[in-house]
Amino acid sequence: EAYLGAIAAANPKLNAYVAVTDDQAREMAAASDERLAAGKGGPLEGIPLGIKDLFGTKGSHTQAGSHILDGFKPEYESTVTANLWRDGAVMLGKLNMDEFAMGSSNETSYYGPVINPWRGEGSNLDLVPGGSSGGSAAAVSAWLCAGATATDTGGSIRQPAAFTGTVGIKPTYGRCSRWGVVAFASSLDQAGPIARTVEDAALLMTSMSGFDPKDSTSADLAVPDFAAAVERGVKGLVIGVPREYRMDGMPEEIEALWRQGLEWLRAEGATVRDISLPHTKYALPAYYIVAPAEASSNLARYDGVKYGLRVSGKDITDMYELTRAAGFGREVKRRVMIGTYVLSAGYYDAYYVRAQKVRTLIKRDFEAVFADGVDAILTPATPSAAFGVGDEDMKADPVKMYLNDVFTVTVNMAGLPGIAVPAGKDASGLPLGLQLIGKPFDEETLFAAGRVIE
Ligand code: GLN
Repeated sequence: EAYLGAIAAANPKLNAYVAVTDDQAREMAAASDERLAAGKGGPLEGIPLGIKDLFGTKGSHTQAGSHILDGFKPEYESTVTANLWRDGAVMLGKLNMDEFAMGSSNETSYYGPVINPWRGEGSNLDLVPGGSSGGSAAAVSAWLCAGATATDTGGSIRQPAAFTGTVGIKPTYGRCSRWGVVAFASSLDQAGPIARTVEDAALLMTSMSGFDPKDSTSADLAVPDFAAAVERGVKGLVIGVPREYRMDGMPEEIEALWRQGLEWLRAEGATVRDISLPHTKYALPAYYIVAPAEASSNLARYDGVKYGLRVSGKDITDMYELTRAAGFGREVKRRVMIGTYVLSAGYYDAYYVRAQKVRTLIKRDFEAVFADGVDAILTPATPSAAFGVGDEDMKADPVKMYLNDVFTVTVNMAGLPGIAVPAGKDASGLPLGLQLIGKPFDEETLFAAGRVIE
């Protein structure tokens, strides 16, 4: 009731929830109370969560921030959310997001922008919460849920976490099932939690993770008790500092925060080592070929027949065209066009195949440093703090918006785990985050090192 009250009070301004499932929340909470009374409480018993609108939730609003999924209520429950309910969690509602998870500011949502609960000192400017999981990050930051699910295809958990002073982890590709999650770029998409502390994130991730025969890319590995790793410390760990992440024009306060993070890790017994990830600069351009290519293919299913919106036309082709024209927003159309172009005959080898080769090189960069004894890598999470809603520069040039993910996309391209942890503030008091990148399926080290930094 306290969380539902907080949502009613704050959501009209923040726009973090697109649907509040209050009746269902009360039912789930009552069932939870009964389990607790019977001594059968699960690890997340009664914990109220917000769910990104990308996760299919049976019988309730699931529209991926898009107009084209109007009225869609799936007949199924995503594996990740089913795992959370199995462990006793309670759903408060569905969270706003960039349309089909395409964006870094939550401004591409059909439901309008989410407002970051943080503001610069003495400023009235509304800031973005980052994206695409902007609703998840804002809701956690503003205490409108105890934790949230999110997804990360190229930074969409970590960048919003950094912009809102929350913790977000993108697990290793294959750790969480993609089954029942609306697909953006299937070879990059991963679910993960956004929470207020590293420990909360570890608890949520333990429940969300696990092998799922319904997702062919799900990893058949036991799920560690991630919360048990949180207090493990960093003594003896080798932390890599990639020189390619020292970008020209990086604000001094972010450089300083990065140095501070290394100091904290050193003080707890870690060794810091300079490393090189030479293909870093190709990650963002290669991502913006691979991700739109897969998106154009995944989004072909929205044709006015099977889901949501239908705009009638004179024949079936006309109906497809009118539905897609009305149902998709500008950014989604841009991605579908780029994706269709790079996959088309004559361009496929020059763009798509080449981007996949670059992806292999990026992966090998990481493999080489890990083979050389590095346990985790520390970088800034984002090149800046949260920016203003409707920022003219970003609106005029989509590439400026894409640059928000310059530190985070490499991790998706290599399939690695990455955590963003709040580490400090900028001059105007806005949160800044640091990112730790880990070896495949070694999220435990990220929780342990993240705990030292938070
Ligand atoms: N901002 C990136 C994009 O727009 C990443 C999005 C994401 O991780 N879902 O594609």
